[in-house]
Amino acid sequence: MINLQIKQKFHQKIKSGVDLIDEKDINPAPEDGYARLTYNGDFVAIAYFSPQNKGIGWIISREDKDINQDFWVNLLSLAKEKRSTYFKSPLTTAFRVFNQDGDGFGGLTVDLYNEYALFSWYNPFILSQKKIIVEAFQSAYPEILGAYEKIRFKPSDYESAHLFGEKKEEKFTILENGINYSVFLNDGLMTGIFLDQHEVRDSLIEGLALGKDVLNTFSYTAAFSVAAAAGGSKSTVSVDLAKRSRELSTDNFEANGFDLEANKFVVMDIFEYFKYADRHDLKFDLIILDPPSFARNKKQTFSVAKDYHKLISDSLSILSENGTIIASTNAQNLSPAKFEEQIKKGFGPKKYKIKEKFSLPADFAVNIHDRQSNYLKVYIIEVLK
Ligand code: SAH
Repeated sequence: MINLQIKQKFHQKIKSGVDLIDEKDINPAPEDGYARLTYNGDFVAIAYFSPQNKGIGWIISREDKDINQDFWVNLLSLAKEKRSTYFKSPLTTAFRVFNQDGDGFGGLTVDLYNEYALFSWYNPFILSQKKIIVEAFQSAYPEILGAYEKIRFKPSDYESAHLFGEKKEEKFTILENGINYSVFLNDGLMTGIFLDQHEVRDSLIEGLALGKDVLNTFSYTAAFSVAAAAGGSKSTVSVDLAKRSRELSTDNFEANGFDLEANKFVVMDIFEYFKYADRHDLKFDLIILDPPSFARNKKQTFSVAKDYHKLISDSLSILSENGTIIASTNAQNLSPAKFEEQIKKGFGPKKYKIKEKFSLPADFAVNIHDRQSNYLKVYIIEVLK
């Protein structure tokens, strides 16, 4: 392991508890691998360096220790203990069991889907540590039958692959709060469900959608619509641009025996759908807005940071009186304050009340010293007269 002298500013940042290392902390970026950081000759922390989508490395220990198999078994076991309530619930079989710096090691996440694990590697160095991490995982989780992996950095030869143990059929169902969702572990980077939204789905099941006509925009596999239907919605319409979403959404409704008459799917650009619904005088009691951070279609680009307000203002013309909007974004670069500005801009002179706010659930453990690690922002907004 190399020794690296660091500057005062970086030393302060490490002391504040932030783990993500930026380009401006240390320049030029050291070579990929572990490093012992020192300040004025004294030990400060162990880090590893490797460029990824955000940052150039991570602080992984403020104690001087060896990063060996025992270290990993210990880290993974601690993360497992933290989630003991999730393991006890017979109603939920898919959740996150290791979440980056929230569990003490940035650059890695592990999710469980029944008895299968899904590893995501966010930079080349963490991928190079695969063998030691997988062996430690198998010792902490002897009950897991097999695993798949996703490569979340570029360039890479592949995005998704089988990692170890038994292989799972292409599509299968997991349980979340008693509802079935159809998932797949080895087809691109997505799996059919965004596990970080489970508390929002819970709230739809537990009363938010009851008796309502629901519009689910950017619906992907219609997971929010399925939760709404489970929660007694009168009807749901799910809108997504991707043709494949129709089949995936149908799988999800059928997995729960829900009626496909009351739960419809439309393949359409959402901005086109807003116009269509307005022309046809359609009204919804609950509109869910959960776009990707960036999207490009044939004509235009959409970015949450600049354009979210348009989703709100377009929704208002097809929202029934006293309707509810679920405004959601996972954009890491957008602070809650900036998101609220977008919402405010979208409402214009119209009055509204933010009834509830969700961020990441407990299984998506965050680094409490680094606000950026809690990227999810979901607001339940009631429109007032
Ligand atoms: N809300 C979903 C996840 C959304 S993923 C959930 O919780 O499961 C983003 C989805 O937005 C993708 O399925 C993509 O096809 C869709 N999308 C992107 N741009 C779109 C547009 N302009 N109109 C409709 N859907 C769009």
